Amino acid sequence: MAARRKLIAGNWKMNGLKADGLALASDLAGRVKGAGAVPFDMLVCPPFPLLFPVGDAVKGSGVALGAQDCHAKQKGAHTGDVSPVMLKDAGCAYVILGHSERRADHGESDAVVNAKTVAAHKEGLIAIVCVGETEAQRDAGTQTDVVGSQLAGSLPEGATAENTVVAYEPVWAIGTGKTATPDDVAAMHAFIRGELAKRFPDADKMRVLYGGSVKPSNAAELMATENVDGALVGGASLVADDFWAIATSCR
Ligand code: PEP
Repeated sequence: MAARRKLIAGNWKMNGLKADGLALASDLAGRVKGAGAVPFDMLVCPPFPLLFPVGDAVKGSGVALGAQDCHAKQKGAHTGDVSPVMLKDAGCAYVILGHSERRADHGESDAVVNAKTVAAHKEGLIAIVCVGETEAQRDAGTQTDVVGSQLAGSLPEGATAENTVVAYEPVWAIGTGKTATPDDVAAMHAFIRGELAKRFPDADKMRVLYGGSVKPSNAAELMATENVDGALVGGASLVADDFWAIATSCR
């Protein structure tokens, strides 16, 4: 089995003003720098206006910078949108795409997520492509059909372990305090790895993150679950002590 280095990614969502973002980013940068060799990559994904200041705060620390979305075009008449070229210019290495909140709030389909992923790859960004079922879909027992179809539609042919990370985020576990059980997570991550193996030659090296109410109290168990290669963290990524505790639960 390929060794996959864990990725601990913080999705700040629409939270934080400049002072808060700078304080959080500087705190994390200092911890990563001071810790020396750590068994994880750390990533922060602030809102767009904070990319430049947060990028400056984490520069040279080992904490990577990412965005929460991008447009599928590189430039043009798209009021309010931000292109992957701009993200690269701001120092981003990663971009989260197809988060369930974007799929729900902005009607993003798998085809849209796929096009954005292609555009992100073109600029050398690593796309974190999110998939996950709703509570009703899990209750109906259709979670693997849903996630299988999201993977098929959202991941472009050019996806590799170098340019793509998958995040499994059951919608019912995001921001709700409800966490999928380690058994549910293991089953879904094994399914996802099987689906990736059908299409991508280096699928065994692709990282598959879990996201959904990850917190210090459940992180160690989730991060030790088979085929879980890190976490996409929302709420707990806004508190330096909590995000750090999640990261350092990785072995
Ligand atoms: C997320 O938004 O990606 C997420 C997992 O949020 P939370 O950790 O707050 O559930």
